[in-house]
Amino acid sequence: MPSDPLVAQHVLEFPGGYTRTTGPVIGRFLSELRARRLVGVRTAEGRVLVPPLEYDPATGEAVTGEYVEVGPAGTVTTWAWVDEPLPGHPLDRPFAWALIRLDGADTDLVHALDPGNPKALRQGMRVWPVWREQPKGHITDLSHFVPEVTQIVSDVRAEYRLQAGGALRVFLEGVERGVLLGGRCERCAKVYVPYRAACPECGSALPDTFEVPDTGTITTFAINNLPDPRAPQVPFVSAYILLDGTDIPMIALVGDVPAHEVRQGMRVRAVWVPESERTASMANIRWFAPTGEPDVELS
Ligand SMILES: [Zn+2]
Repeated sequence: MPSDPLVAQHVLEFPGGYTRTTGPVIGRFLSELRARRLVGVRTAEGRVLVPPLEYDPATGEAVTGEYVEVGPAGTVTTWAWVDEPLPGHPLDRPFAWALIRLDGADTDLVHALDPGNPKALRQGMRVWPVWREQPKGHITDLSHFVPEVTQIVSDVRAEYRLQAGGALRVFLEGVERGVLLGGRCERCAKVYVPYRAACPECGSALPDTFEVPDTGTITTFAINNLPDPRAPQVPFVSAYILLDGTDIPMIALVGDVPAHEVRQGMRVRAVWVPESERTASMANIRWFAPTGEPDVELS
């Protein structure tokens, strides 16, 4: 009759702590570690061993006893990925055992590396130590390594005041009164809004301004998924709107319509803020809203 193999589970551990002496060299290394410094020892040939050893493994000669501060940053030489950390491992999340060449060292230190994203791991990656809060003179005083900071996320906010020049001032003063002022080039007959002093196409000076309608047609548009303080909601639509009788579209928000219903050729009209709130700024136009007229065929 077949019998199951006999299996006995053994665990070898020293629950009370296993005390051993470190010897002078490793003792120095661990003492420096407790002070959050990484040191190596110089060999007779001038190489720096990290962690320090009593004898140069290459020659068998005793080391010089000269301790050299290295790191704290280093470069990853190679690594082994640990998908499921075991109870005794330094980290409780996936990490890498890495060979790290600390700056100034000639040998590699094995230690845990938390790259954040395993895809970020690569040879030559620059890493920095993370120290344990309560050092106790153990290799775990150096908790693990993490990648060098290569980018930061910061909020960006630019506030600026536009000093309107002659033509723009004329245009914005019109906007304050609730009218859009354009200019016509006498040479190429194009109508520009906002009004400007010279024709951008032929350079001719534009004579007087005249009022253009606040109705127009959407020529192109973009659906934006990032919030904008001027926009009614997210997503919102910004569009090029060709005002009636003009030749150059102006950019504006489109509102009072779901973003997915906005289309090229859609007829729109400016939605102005109440007269009492108007200033000499484009904020007077909240956005352009559909008029309900049939779409226009764009040429
Ligand atoms: Zn012109």
